[in-house]
Amino acid sequence: TANLDPGMGKEIAGAVGVTLTHPDKVMYPDTRVTKATLAAYYVAVAEKMLPHIEDRPLSLVRDTDGDLQKTFFQKHKLPGMPKAIHDGRLEKMSGKESRVLWVDDLAGLIAGVQMNVLEFHVWGSLRQQPDLPHRIVFDIDPDEGLGFDDVKQAALDIRGVLEALGLQSWPLLSGGKGVHVIVPLVPEADWEAAKSFCQDLAELLARTDPSRFIANMSKAKRKGRMFLDYLRNGQGATAICPWSTRARSGASCAVPVAWDELPTFKSANAFDVFAAAARAQEPDPWKGYFDVEQVLTERIRKAIR
Ligand code: ATP
Ligand code: MN
Ligand code: MN
Repeated sequence: TANLDPGMGKEIAGAVGVTLTHPDKVMYPDTRVTKATLAAYYVAVAEKMLPHIEDRPLSLVRDTDGDLQKTFFQKHKLPGMPKAIHDGRLEKMSGKESRVLWVDDLAGLIAGVQMNVLEFHVWGSLRQQPDLPHRIVFDIDPDEGLGFDDVKQAALDIRGVLEALGLQSWPLLSGGKGVHVIVPLVPEADWEAAKSFCQDLAELLARTDPSRFIANMSKAKRKGRMFLDYLRNGQGATAICPWSTRARSGASCAVPVAWDELPTFKSANAFDVFAAAARAQEPDPWKGYFDVEQVLTERIRKAIR
């Protein structure tokens, strides 16, 4: 694992224009992960993370008290926010106009650290093209008591259906309980098409294997099954950004993995900041993700409707 030197974190923060106040403040109870450690973490993962976050409207999860007990979502500018977290209008937004936050460099990530941001969540579209998703996400949410083996098999099943439809996908350990299966798209289909496709796919799996899957959000009905959360795929909905830290005990991170190594992981929070930083120095486990050119066509959507 990486050692994430807090001294280096503080120094590079300064070099990119962010002064870390309270660099020694512990951000995760019972760990040695301080604000300066988190700055060092984002230095380590920036090269891999920035292509996933730049120009995406953000929702930030900020901690208020240093013990992960009280966090809040922030989607809009607040007074005193560092300039590296940009605030502006969505371009070419059909319908209502709205302002959003985004970052596009290491300074933006570290400015988040300075503001006690523990999670960066992203839209599935760019701020310059907010009406057309460039990725969709299948968020697998297991009921309590289900093991990670079930989650992994669900991810492989979703991959199988997508593959049969001609769509390549990549798995993300969420850093929490589940796995996200992510499908990059050439932005041609709109949000309505994306959302109905994801709902159709979730319902197809729930119909085929009702003992394992449910496509309905109700926690009461989940009972020993996995909710295939297609609701991440509406305009303005977010999912955790690859490489983001999580506001969960143990300082776990959302980490991209390759399909062939997925079976080797024992949990969705297998990587803490030290292990994730080390992984970021290795070849990208999502080889091909940014190169694939696939369109969510009417033919594909019709095939599972
Ligand atoms: P886990 O694997 O433990 O489920 P997760 O990140 O998938 O972790 P979910 O609760 O399933 O957590 O939520 C999926 C995504 O939906 C989140 O990553 C987040 O972007 C978004 N989300 C969930 N709850 C909220 C909320 N209250 N406000 C805004 N976005 C939310
Ligand atoms: Mn989830
Ligand atoms: Mn969910």
